[in-house]
Amino acid sequence: MSSRTQRVLVIEDDQTIADVIRLQLEQDGLTVEVAPDGAAGLEAAAREHPDMIVADLLTPRMHGYEVIRRIRASHGTCRIPILVLSAQAYAADQRKAMQMGADAFLSKPFELDELGQTVRRILDTMRVRFWGVRGSIATPGPETVRYGGNTPCVTVETGEHQLILDAGTGLRKLGLTLAAEARGKPLSLSMLITHTHWDHIQGFPFFVPAFVPGNHIEVHGPPSVDKPLEKVLRGQMDPEYFPVSLGDMAADIEVHEIRERNFTVGGFAITARYVNHPGVTMAYRIECDDRVVVYATDIEPYKAQLSDASDTDGRRAEFGRQRDADLIDLIRGADLYIADSQYSPDEYQRKRGWGHSCYLDAVELALQAEAKRIALFSHDPMHDDDMVDEKLRTCLEVVAEKGSDLQVIAAAEGRIVELVRDDA
Ligand SMILES: [Zn+2]
Repeated sequence: MSSRTQRVLVIEDDQTIADVIRLQLEQDGLTVEVAPDGAAGLEAAAREHPDMIVADLLTPRMHGYEVIRRIRASHGTCRIPILVLSAQAYAADQRKAMQMGADAFLSKPFELDELGQTVRRILDTMRVRFWGVRGSIATPGPETVRYGGNTPCVTVETGEHQLILDAGTGLRKLGLTLAAEARGKPLSLSMLITHTHWDHIQGFPFFVPAFVPGNHIEVHGPPSVDKPLEKVLRGQMDPEYFPVSLGDMAADIEVHEIRERNFTVGGFAITARYVNHPGVTMAYRIECDDRVVVYATDIEPYKAQLSDASDTDGRRAEFGRQRDADLIDLIRGADLYIADSQYSPDEYQRKRGWGHSCYLDAVELALQAEAKRIALFSHDPMHDDDMVDEKLRTCLEVVAEKGSDLQVIAAAEGRIVELVRDDA
């Protein structure tokens, strides 16, 4: 729950309804601004950047569908949650509003208690947002348009805190959003890097907030094999590779090497573990407000790697199983496990020892760790959208056969996973 007063923008042309909503939300400890029509609401959203918007659908000057579309299309407002209140109770209208980016829909007339609870639930929801989901190399193009071609970047967001996971090419668009949301105010940002393979750091030179004086950016990651982490980040911006050096970025950038298993970053409690991947790579368990996200990309389970044809008596597989126990502990009970799922079983046979997982092994780990949800992540650059669909279908079948209630999704650029508090 947030400790600062949260601000709600209400877009409602009926003054009586607006007053009733304002009274209810102010009683709940929120600050409320009312805009009397859609166009004024859109302006207020951009100017004030409220914590959430409550919007009527049939508003003068600009209807609610257009308001939702334009709010979602603008870098400065695209992350603001929207609750639609409407007398339009048709299922098709509700579906349309949700497709266009509304977070929830309440039909008028509504109970004031229900409104208060819905607003509180939306404000208290933890959101995990995918900005890049592709492994190895960016793969833009018509064949990856649904799942996205940018390399890893994820944000974990609560009402009060946010944490950036990895700085792949997806970071560029996040940077545009953060800069627009800031509206000139200084930003204080926290970033966790799993390792420094290209696909996890290539977005950093294009991260707009790093060029803004007054911004503060903390980057945390594992020490590299034989160089300080800062030197590796600096290296990709050597003049041979990039026109601007890390030292020329105007923000105050602090690079921290992770030495502890447990630490706190940007309001999140972190548990870090080394994982099996070439070089030095970490996976993270991220906890805040009773919710747990595990970010474990670029991992090859030891058991899978050691269960090769030479393991005739199964001793190597057993050794691998013991080594994987630490990773299973890290994932244990997670609300969301973001999992390396790069290869199909056939591909894995050809790419054993390349440092990535077969998606069936990722699901197996999630089942053993009793995670609630797994997001298949780090899609192979050779996998088009249809192949990712197929990967998801196969994993869903495996989970259904086992009778588990593990939820499986395939991570897609722009997708948001909402983690609601158990008591909400
Ligand atoms: Zn890697």
